[in-house]
Amino acid sequence: MNLLLMGLPGAGKGTQAEKISEKYKIPHISTGDMFRSAIKEGTELGIKAKSFMDQGALVPDEVTIGIVKERLSKDDCEKGFLLDGFPRTIAQAEALQTLLSELDQEIDHVLHVKVPEEKLVERLSGRRICPTCGRAYHVMYNPPEKEGICDRDGSALIQRDDDKPETVKNRLAINIEQSKPLLDFYDDKGYLVTLDGDQDIDKVFEDIQSVIEN
Ligand SMILES: [Zn+2]
Repeated sequence: MNLLLMGLPGAGKGTQAEKISEKYKIPHISTGDMFRSAIKEGTELGIKAKSFMDQGALVPDEVTIGIVKERLSKDDCEKGFLLDGFPRTIAQAEALQTLLSELDQEIDHVLHVKVPEEKLVERLSGRRICPTCGRAYHVMYNPPEKEGICDRDGSALIQRDDDKPETVKNRLAINIEQSKPLLDFYDDKGYLVTLDGDQDIDKVFEDIQSVIEN
């Protein structure tokens, strides 16, 4: 079961990834984790990737692809994998196709968890942080007992600049533009399944299971 997971920030991808990984016993492979472990293990590619990251530069595709290849060749991927956050570009998507055919594998589904943009803005801009203890709240999903006040220490909660609606909207716009060609790429290949992410978490997971099992 070789799966790719796509979705904008706030679409609930992480939660679904955990559920998929647990139910189907396939590893959830996020780009960040993959880089971190390659660096920690001190592989040749990990060291290369680190040198770019230390300079604040983007890791070139050939290094990233190499790291993906090493990761997908590990024993825990025997039953498949769930890739999250990779590929990000068409060049990477094409390289992944080549890599998978070298490994005699194929993508089964590209799961796209879709949530309307205005809902994402609501989800992402509702976050409030306590400046004293760092505890995070959400005005709708995890509100404090007293509005705007930390339950733990009574401090006034703040909204970080990153979570302000305008910033969130800009971030989403960039993400939408970047993901569009990828969604088209996988749609053309017949892999893309778009799921309604604007539902209860368990309902979204039910929909994912019916895609995987049918
Ligand atoms: Zn606090």
